Amino acid sequence: MNSFLNELTALQIGKVKENEMLSAHTTMKIGGPAEIFIEPSSIENLQKTIQLIRKYNIPWRAIGRGSNLLVSDQGIEGVVIKLGSGLDQLEVNGDSVKVGGGFSLVSFATIICKRGLSGLEFAGGIPGSVGGAVYMNAGAHGSDISKILTKAHILFPDGTMEWLTNEEMAFSYRTSVLQKKRPGIVVEAVFKLKPGEKEVIVSEMQKNKDYRKKTQPWNYPCAGSIFRNPLPNYAGQLIEKAGLKGFIMGGAKVSEMHGNFIVNNGNATAQDVLDLIQYIKDKIFELYHVRMETEVEIIGKNLQK
Ligand code: FAD
Repeated sequence: MNSFLNELTALQIGKVKENEMLSAHTTMKIGGPAEIFIEPSSIENLQKTIQLIRKYNIPWRAIGRGSNLLVSDQGIEGVVIKLGSGLDQLEVNGDSVKVGGGFSLVSFATIICKRGLSGLEFAGGIPGSVGGAVYMNAGAHGSDISKILTKAHILFPDGTMEWLTNEEMAFSYRTSVLQKKRPGIVVEAVFKLKPGEKEVIVSEMQKNKDYRKKTQPWNYPCAGSIFRNPLPNYAGQLIEKAGLKGFIMGGAKVSEMHGNFIVNNGNATAQDVLDLIQYIKDKIFELYHVRMETEVEIIGKNLQK
């Protein structure tokens, strides 16, 4: 690991830290140390990082704004690459917009709506990065990323880069080709939006945000929806029907506002959250014979599922 670190430092690829606590990089405020934490300062430096990681055969993982992650208190082995300010360029060409994978989705949606471009009104309250949103096909209020994305520029683990079209991204409900079939990092993406009346677009986004504030514990540490909706059922409704709203395990609690949100009550460990997830899964299966699948990604060392 020392030779890797020496070479990495010589390349001056951006911020490099050892044993960085991931609780500072997740919206749940949970997560132990990343052995090596890297925040590349540009796409080119990200590519160099991946090539070096490959040379030394070190395990790695990319993260965005940590809003869909449950990270072990024991942390993550190897390298964690955070895609942030080095990948936050924005280029507007009429109704087509190219944006970096590290751009905040909330800021992106706000800027675009204020320019009188329609299509991102759904995204104003989703606290992820653009890259994380593309990877997850994030969505709300009847829309999602797949409806507006033209193409995404992907850096693959072998260090090569390729533009994938909307079709090649194989989007479906909270899923893209990047999750299993073709793992890779979204370094930038191009979206096609629709010119419209600025006031109408901005007010639609605000309406969506207001609804969210009324129905979700947005001001508590959490990771959004814990479970995928087992359609035609809705996870939140099943959990509420089972009487689990407000149920507590250690420092983790099922939100009283929304059954599909687990909040960190202040001192929750990753294991508390995982135990609560398992409890809910078992209960919902016992009561309704429905198998719940997590939407939140569970990563890191020594978590007992
Ligand atoms: P992270 O949590 O950092 O990572 C999640 C996954 O994405 C990881 O596997 C990571 O490797 C991968 N990833 C991150 N960046 C990249 C990249 N550049 N390229 C490739 N892979 C990448 N989600 C919705 O869909 N709809 C909602 O309405 C919604 N509401 C939410 C409300 C709250 C209060 C919170 C906390 C979360 C909510 N979420 C929602 C979940 C979350 O914001 C989304 O899943 C978001 O897209 C995750 O982006 P991220 O950058 O935080 O990804």
